[in-house]
Amino acid sequence: MNRALDLVILGSPGAGKGTQARRIASAFDVAHVSTGDMLRDEVAQGTELGKSIQAVMAQGELVSDDLMATVLLGRLHSPQGVAGCVFDGYPRNAAQAHLLDGLLAELGRRIDVVLYLDVPDHVVLERITGRRSCSGCGTTYHLAGRPSRLGDRCELCNDPLVQRDDDREEVIRERLRVYGEHTAPLLTLYRERGVLHEVDGVGSEEAVFSRLRSAMGSGGR
Ligand code: AMP
Repeated sequence: MNRALDLVILGSPGAGKGTQARRIASAFDVAHVSTGDMLRDEVAQGTELGKSIQAVMAQGELVSDDLMATVLLGRLHSPQGVAGCVFDGYPRNAAQAHLLDGLLAELGRRIDVVLYLDVPDHVVLERITGRRSCSGCGTTYHLAGRPSRLGDRCELCNDPLVQRDDDREEVIRERLRVYGEHTAPLLTLYRERGVLHEVDGVGSEEAVFSRLRSAMGSGGR
C-alpha cells in the first residue's frame, strides 16, 4: 500500500476550498475532511452542542480549538482516513496547525502538501453572496456561475438549495477579518517548511483544478 498522503487546502472563505478539496479527494483517493461540513452536520442534528456551534458560526467566529480537536480525531482514525486526507477548513490558526502535526505524527504521518488558493476579497464577496448549497448532500452551486439545472433544487438529490447563515454579507466580512488575523499567518509557517504551493484561485472550477494538479506535480494515483 502507498504511504498515506496528507494535504491541507488553505484560502479565505469562498476561495473554493470545498469544491477543489472534493475533486482532490477523488483524484488522489484520500478522505475529504471538512471541519465546516462536520460542524454543519452537528448543527443539523439539533443537539445542545449543535446549538452552541450554530451561534458561533452564525457570527463568523471560530469554534473552540478543543472542540475541533475532538471532531478531527474521530475522522483521522476512521477507515476512510487511513490512506490520507485532504484537510479543508483545518487548521484555522497556529494552535490547530500544531495540533494537526502532533496527531499526524502519532500515526507516522505528516503534512505533505499545502495548497493555497489565492482569491481577492472582492471576488470572494461576489462568490459567497451567490452561493447556495444543497440541504441534503451539501453540493454547492452559484446563482450566476454554476446554477442548478433544477432551479432551487439539487441536481444530484433533488433536495432544496439553501443559503448558509454565515454566507450573509456582514458575516462574510467578519469571516474575512478572522481569516486575515488567525489563518493567513499559516502561509508563512508552511512556506518556511517548503510545503506550500500557491495557486491562482480565480477562474473556472476546471481551470483552478488543473492548476492545483500541476502545482502538486503529479497526476493522481
Ligand atoms: P467553512 O465551511 O470551513 O467555511 O467553516 C464554516 C464555519 O465553521 C467557520 O466560519 C467557523 O465558524 C467554523 N469552523 C470550521 N472549521 C473550523 C476550525 N478548524 N476551527 C474553528 N472553527 C471552524
